[in-house]
Amino acid sequence: MINIALDGPAGSGKSTIAKAISKKLNILYLDTGAMYRAFGLMAYRCGVDAKNAVEVEKILPLVDIKVKYVDGAQRTYLGDEDVSEKIRENHVSMLASAVSAHQCVREKLVELQREIALGTDCVLDGRDIGTHVLPNANYKFYVTASLEERTDRRYKELVAKGHTVDKDALKEEIATRDYNDSHRKFAPLRQADDAVYLDTSNMTAEEVVDFVISRIK
Ligand code: C5P
Repeated sequence: MINIALDGPAGSGKSTIAKAISKKLNILYLDTGAMYRAFGLMAYRCGVDAKNAVEVEKILPLVDIKVKYVDGAQRTYLGDEDVSEKIRENHVSMLASAVSAHQCVREKLVELQREIALGTDCVLDGRDIGTHVLPNANYKFYVTASLEERTDRRYKELVAKGHTVDKDALKEEIATRDYNDSHRKFAPLRQADDAVYLDTSNMTAEEVVDFVISRIK
């Protein structure tokens, strides 16, 4: 059984690496951030303040998040609606970060993540995979890069999708999200004691994938 945990801050390249590893090793890839994004989108649609734990808890029974795989790629659903593209919109990032701080949200989504991952060869990326979701994962990596580099990567990604982006505002947003994610009470972003630390600031995606694969073999 192979369980790989990839954690790290926003824009560190985790999903690019996880996708490549899942293809190379032919194992399942679960993007856990997509689930928090879907939850954040649901809160927004319900007119709920994502930061308010009491309000968020009220919509908990209404939130029906599912993950399906189409041609090996993850699609994320809210009920019957495929929200895989909508959750990538930039405003959803902050909503995801806000709802992810609430214990009730984390409990619900972690249960779902474990259900999907249990008994399956898989690579999961997120913030708390090595520390909380899969503490017994046999391979753990903590992937990071400088704030400038991460902003640059995210900026290019959004511009390639046709969005108009204010780079300074984006940098500020990423820094705020990192702060919130690493300072929340429940399962904060943290390197697991047994995770391999990887600063990818000066590495290409290919180099990072090769490094991770070499560690796994
Ligand atoms: O990975 P991504 O940037 O898509 O995640 C969006 C947000 O979801 C993060 O900023 C974080 O607040 C939250 N998240 C989390 N735990 C995870 C994955 C994501 O709290 N395992």
